[in-house]
Amino acid sequence: MDKLLLSKGLFWTSLVLLLIGGGLLLWDGSSEPMTNTSKQSTARASAGPIPAKADVPSPEHIKPIPQTLESKTVLLQNGDSLSRTLNRLGVSNRQIAQLLQVDESSVLSNLQPGQKLTTDILVPSNDLKNLTLSVSRERAHVFKQVDSGYRYKEQLTPIETVLAYKEVTIQNSLFVDGATAGISDKLLLKITGIFRWDIDFALDIRQGDRFALLYEERFIDGEKIGTGHIIAAQFINNGRVFEALRYQLEQQTDYFTRDGLSLRKAFIRSPVDFTRVSSQFNPHRLHPIFKTSRPHQGVDYAAATGTPVQSSGDGSVAFVGEMKGYGNTVIIDHGAGYTTLYAHLNGFADHVIAGRQVAQGETIAYVGQTGWATGPHLHYEFRINGTHQNPETVDIPYDSPMSKSELMAFLPYAQTLMERLKRSRSQDMAKYLVRLSRKN
Ligand SMILES: [Zn+2]
Repeated sequence: MDKLLLSKGLFWTSLVLLLIGGGLLLWDGSSEPMTNTSKQSTARASAGPIPAKADVPSPEHIKPIPQTLESKTVLLQNGDSLSRTLNRLGVSNRQIAQLLQVDESSVLSNLQPGQKLTTDILVPSNDLKNLTLSVSRERAHVFKQVDSGYRYKEQLTPIETVLAYKEVTIQNSLFVDGATAGISDKLLLKITGIFRWDIDFALDIRQGDRFALLYEERFIDGEKIGTGHIIAAQFINNGRVFEALRYQLEQQTDYFTRDGLSLRKAFIRSPVDFTRVSSQFNPHRLHPIFKTSRPHQGVDYAAATGTPVQSSGDGSVAFVGEMKGYGNTVIIDHGAGYTTLYAHLNGFADHVIAGRQVAQGETIAYVGQTGWATGPHLHYEFRINGTHQNPETVDIPYDSPMSKSELMAFLPYAQTLMERLKRSRSQDMAKYLVRLSRKN
């Protein structure tokens, strides 16, 4: 029995050993896939209890971070580019590229100093929702985020234009009295530009001269943003009344008298920028070299050495060089017997060579004091067929650029503008004009 028991025991033992051996054999034969499977199941088992910090996040597990829309406006400086400006605000290069894709008028790649860039950015994701480039008070370029990137739109703010009227009596100077009346320097320079063929603003202006103007004032949302064109103006200089009405012809917009004559003429009155001329100077009252009062054949403009001298009319250079007494001199031949002379020059403009054409207003030389001159000034002469004329008063023929049909359209318009000026003027101005017309 014992033997049997023993043998039975051996049997079971061997069987167990056999099974373990088989198991080991089985294990060795498929070790790789079994290892993988077990690792996977281990990972799956441990994923359950740790929900938030998984290796691969899924969106439903992220708590959304609150985003706020922040608006910023940047005043662009010299050298600011779109990418530099937006990178500084945290905007990605991808969004900058999307903006440039729809920038059909290339405003974003040509940013100018003084323009304003306004951004609406979601923070902290730095997602650019809107971009507005304001190039002026009335014009802006707007880029709005859409699904595919951005959509571009030009935005124009309507400007309201109102006609304003001002009149001034000159007691001190054009600029001082003009400013007192609330007229900007810019507008005053426009007036002198309109009348520069008739009035020498360097030498002609007298105390008691008057001017009146109808001009545009511009508003956006009720706020004044500046002035526009001068629509009509009158200037009374030394008892002479000049008028200018702005009118658009087919080819150009210009100023005309009420009869349709152009204010542009063959000659401008002052060949030097009047703002650079000092009025207290008369070198010929008693000539310092000859100690006598000599007849004077021209007009003198005192200005700093180097001040540009302009040809008063179109023409060709008849003489350039030195002349006795005159020093460095230029003579321009304007045709039809008209010539002008510019003397005591410091130097000549490069292109001023005998025979060359010059245009009205073109710089031909620079003020100096060569020849018989006691201080830097321009000596200017105006001659017709060799005879000296006073360039301040010589009558220069008008020319009308209007065709007969243009004139027919202009005349009633001119009449309504003159009526408007008349209605606007003060009683004092009205009386003054009546007195003047009685005198003439
Ligand atoms: Zn002189």
